[in-house]
Amino acid sequence: MRWALIGASRIASSYMIDAIRAQEDSDIVSVLSSDTDRGKAFAEANNIPRSYTNLAEQLNDASVDAVYISTTNEKHHSQALAAIAAGKHVLCEKPLAMAVTDAVEMVRAAAQRGVVFATNHHLRNAGSHLAIHDLITSGRIGRVLSARVFHAVSLPEHLQGWRINDASAGGGVIPDITVHDADTIRFHLEEDPQEVVAKSAVSGMGDGVEDSVMSVWSMPSGATVQTHESFTHRFAGSGIEFHGTDGSIFARNVMTQEPVGEIRLVDPDGETIIPFQNHNLYVRSLGLFDDAVRGTGRPSADGVDGVKSLAVALAVREAAQTGKAVRVDYGDV
Ligand code: NDP
Repeated sequence: MRWALIGASRIASSYMIDAIRAQEDSDIVSVLSSDTDRGKAFAEANNIPRSYTNLAEQLNDASVDAVYISTTNEKHHSQALAAIAAGKHVLCEKPLAMAVTDAVEMVRAAAQRGVVFATNHHLRNAGSHLAIHDLITSGRIGRVLSARVFHAVSLPEHLQGWRINDASAGGGVIPDITVHDADTIRFHLEEDPQEVVAKSAVSGMGDGVEDSVMSVWSMPSGATVQTHESFTHRFAGSGIEFHGTDGSIFARNVMTQEPVGEIRLVDPDGETIIPFQNHNLYVRSLGLFDDAVRGTGRPSADGVDGVKSLAVALAVREAAQTGKAVRVDYGDV
């Protein structure tokens, strides 16, 4: 599988390049940057043969099978459509787009062109979340009554760029983190939030965008979900909890890119620490993407998952801005 990177980004250099190269018979042939020097420096630093500043030229390389899009959020839509039109398989970063209609267009275009289109929601690939998913789907906690996600982190200084001050690039904690929590809740409960209420805040970092938000979602099963995302919480730690009729799951430090954390199950038998695998999340995501391209599997989060997690995040933002309950509009996907 020959890959082209669209975006000279930090997520590519810190995680995705290694994860692509960890797959059998996979290679990265080029990178696209809007800046010639940055592109060249990125290519050299990461041992990538070519850099481009023109997307059409990069996509014109017939040897490229797949692209990984990790530019800022406002660029994902047009770049994905161009890659799909060129017949490339696409792994796109979250949030897929700035609007649900754009994300739906990307998914439909890929289906029409017959290429794989996936969303890089990494948390579904974590050993911790796979173990939690097994507990829930095997009925260990009975019927799920409620869930809580706390994902209020301290955004590291090196990430305090467009995320905290550029709404037009898709900044704000809601497109950055709530979108992941939406995907994770959908993954565990296997249902899509119906309606949300929310309050957002600027708590020391956001400049023209929210840096903190709390929301409550209603699920079709009757379960309720409470979420908290922030860029400004230095010591809060992350976690997720599911409370059911027969037990509760308490997971700590699992809303992270690293294969770490702890899961406790509390039920009538007492308290049990649940073991889980500690594989690299992104390597697993890439492996499943490769399987999908080869026709032997499906991506861990496909395009529809990307649309739906975006739809929930945008509903949370609308609810916070209007002060009203908002029904999630999934764009008929
Ligand atoms: P970066 O800020 O590192 O990169 C985004 C863009 O910013 C790049 O495409 C690049 O443009 C430009 N850029 C990079 N470095 C510089 C610089 N020094 N000066 C000026 N511009 C620069 O973004 P992230 O890697 O943090 O995020 C990229 C995407 O990935 C986002 O959509 C984000 O939501 C997603 N993401 C997903 C994660 C996940 O786990 N799924 C984790 C982190 C991010 P150009 O390409 O034109 O050179």
